[in-house]
Amino acid sequence: MTERVPYASLYENDPVYQMAVNQLRESANILGLADDVVEVLRHPEKLIQVKITIKRDSGKLETFLGWRSQHNSALGPYKGGVRYAETVTPGEVVALSMWMTWKCALAGLPYGGGKGGVRVNPKTLSLRELEELSRKYFAAIAREVGPDIDIPAPDVGTNPQVMGWYFDEYSKLAGYPAWGVITAKPVELGGLYVRVISTGYGVALSAREAARKLFGGLEGKTVAVHGFGNVGIYAAKYLAEWGAIVVAISDSKGYVYNPKGLNVENVIEVKAKTDAVTNYREEGVKVSNNHMELLELPVDILVPAAIENVITKDNVERVKAKLIVEGANGPTTPEADKVLHDKGVVVVPDILANAGGVVMSWIEWSHNKMGCFLTDEEAISRLDKMMTLNFNRVFDEWQKKYSNYPMRVAAYVIAIDRVVKAMKLRGWI
Ligand code: GLU
Repeated sequence: MTERVPYASLYENDPVYQMAVNQLRESANILGLADDVVEVLRHPEKLIQVKITIKRDSGKLETFLGWRSQHNSALGPYKGGVRYAETVTPGEVVALSMWMTWKCALAGLPYGGGKGGVRVNPKTLSLRELEELSRKYFAAIAREVGPDIDIPAPDVGTNPQVMGWYFDEYSKLAGYPAWGVITAKPVELGGLYVRVISTGYGVALSAREAARKLFGGLEGKTVAVHGFGNVGIYAAKYLAEWGAIVVAISDSKGYVYNPKGLNVENVIEVKAKTDAVTNYREEGVKVSNNHMELLELPVDILVPAAIENVITKDNVERVKAKLIVEGANGPTTPEADKVLHDKGVVVVPDILANAGGVVMSWIEWSHNKMGCFLTDEEAISRLDKMMTLNFNRVFDEWQKKYSNYPMRVAAYVIAIDRVVKAMKLRGWI
């Protein structure tokens, strides 16, 4: 009798996890993978759960829960960010770690997949409380991570400063400055300035390549960007710079829409100053406090760059874009994916479109290991080359072999095949 995975009950019923498993099963079927192999792939190799108690500024103790999921290490050390959000569940963390396995494999990086999370709204913490929480979370998982074991990075709700504390906490325990344990570190601690822009830049790049294939280029195409965090901001900025017309931008408080095109630089400024794009004003701009409506605007390209599950069976019929480029992880549900495919809408999947962050992380990590530095231009041009090549390879293979399916399925099939081959070669399966 097969033993049950002891920690599976922590995530098995989670809808985000189930979505990740359904995607895995569909592609595994096409690859002809046996059920027992799928069973191995659907569970993380390790799931770490930790309790983090901090002293609030009021003097009261408060406990938070944190996780690190190490999904698969066939291709290399686990790699992936740490998310701070009130909605974090172990199921979400496991799903995200599985997506990292496919994302790294698809990008051709020597990494497996991992992801961490702490159930906390970081905006409710003072800077001192945030530092205490970050150091304690990292100290709690420190024995399970390392430059050649598991290499965390930022995700939703974390940033280079948090990475600086992680790096320091680990280095104190290790007894040496362990540059390679974290990526997207502050520039002063061995990070690359361009890491901050790299996920959004990569999303813009994927949109550029897809637009070349589908419409002959970006020039004059209208774009709506859902979510204006690190990914949405730089996706919008570069798309506008490269000739697209960014007509709508949202954040959690609502959206702004100008059919003639928004001044992206000015929206970025208003967001930085007031934390709400809805405070932006220019002639002809419409403002709404329902950010979900942005997804239904009449545009050529839609970039969902906020969170999971925003394009669902409930709103997919009203989505009008012809091209969707996923900046967020998991923004389209599998039912919605099918409807979009049937309508002829091309969805560039998250594991391809938003790989710019982790590709730049690899550039940072490998240079830290060699003890040398890259200029910003060198780093960006490397990212551009790697992602452009990869996008076109995946797109062409999709068209050639799997065009009956959404592009996501082709991306998954290519990624899963690489992981399974590595597992076979290592003698694991
Ligand atoms: N959190 C990012 C992602 O989802 C980056 C991960 C990394 O750089 O390791 O891809």
